[in-house]
Amino acid sequence: MGKITFDAEDRWNAFVTLCRKAEHGDGPLAGVPVAVKDNISTAGIQTTCGSAILKDYVPPYDAYVVERLKAAGAAIVGKTNMDEFGMGTTTESSAFGPTTNPVDPTRVPGGSSGGSAAAVAAGMVDMALGTDTGGSIRCPAAFCGIVGLKPTYGRTSRYGLIAYANSLEGIGPMGRTVEDVSRLFAVIAGHDPRDATSLDRPYNHTPSAEIRGMRIGVPLEFFGEGVDPAVGKTVRAAIERFTDLGAEVVECSMPSMKYALAAYYVTCTSEASSNLARFDGVRYGPANDIIPSWHESYQEHRKTHFGKEVRRRIMLGTFALSAGYYGKYYAKAQAARQNVRDDFARLFADVDVVAGPTMPTTAFRLGEKTDPLSMYLADILTVPANLAGVPAISVPCGTVDGLPVGLQLIGRHCEEERIIDAAYAFEGVRA
Ligand code: GLN
Repeated sequence: MGKITFDAEDRWNAFVTLCRKAEHGDGPLAGVPVAVKDNISTAGIQTTCGSAILKDYVPPYDAYVVERLKAAGAAIVGKTNMDEFGMGTTTESSAFGPTTNPVDPTRVPGGSSGGSAAAVAAGMVDMALGTDTGGSIRCPAAFCGIVGLKPTYGRTSRYGLIAYANSLEGIGPMGRTVEDVSRLFAVIAGHDPRDATSLDRPYNHTPSAEIRGMRIGVPLEFFGEGVDPAVGKTVRAAIERFTDLGAEVVECSMPSMKYALAAYYVTCTSEASSNLARFDGVRYGPANDIIPSWHESYQEHRKTHFGKEVRRRIMLGTFALSAGYYGKYYAKAQAARQNVRDDFARLFADVDVVAGPTMPTTAFRLGEKTDPLSMYLADILTVPANLAGVPAISVPCGTVDGLPVGLQLIGRHCEEERIIDAAYAFEGVRA
């Protein structure tokens, strides 16, 4: 047991809350400073989800992953900035102002776990926790030039995670090296009876660069329209290195990609509309003073404290779930989701890992993406893994005009070990 002083300077607005004096225990992460995304509950430490509606909310309990961090001896040094409730790809929708990218402060760090990625990339911490619903760990990892793992759905418990879209979401590790990501994953993975979707699949693996014989599939659709040719070229060159490592690289196809983005956005907005109904101004965050009527109070509170993107998604989701439209939108999205799952099942019968770019471009300029659709389109390569619940890692693989590019490696359910080995082997030969 002990205390550490955390005096790193936050020039990137990576943190919403800093804990300058943090306690730690004994264990595999004894005294290691770890940053935690601000949608993961921390007992006694403000947890805002990047939203004004949860400003001043202090959870009375720890999330499962936070319990695990404490049991491993880690020092929780702060809560990181994020797009409001995780809805975004840039961290610009936070009520606490945007985070900037340490590689180039005129650029976004990616999102929604942008604060975690920036804190790691800037060297404020070695490791951080993020969450990934449709790319929120992998996107900022790619944009900031670090490593980020979205685990298999259920391999980390969601107990204490303030949910945005339950069926897609998970907590995962971020770090500067594959080894650090693997170490942190070993601490947070495991079964938790308080999350009904939690799997009994602990992780206890030491990364190995021995990947001879591994079959790596490269779907053509991952290099299609909208993917910056320079990014595509960098990623293709990276994938070629796997041949030198003794793996076999084959071309393949994922036709369901054309439905993936629509399936994702209908599903996540539907789940958000129901999850966020609980923010009524009574139980959490700033309370309403005058309550003329329940409806007025509910409306006023949500209008004042939710940001624009959150309100947009609640409305879209409520519409998709409403009587008469449910079959047309929500049910269709579930059928399309099944298509994506089937495609992965077919691919994974032949290959061990699917590889491609994490993001279609490098980091945008702050303020560059103004219309929601162009922002949503940036998620095209990350959402398939969430729809299918399979694990995926982003590892830095080069730069375009000085900005980092991420290589994405997707694996079979519960085969994090394999994509971690592939990423580790690649990291060892990366120029
Ligand atoms: N950018 C995606 C979205 O806005 C993914 C966000 C996330 O993974 N939380 O929904």
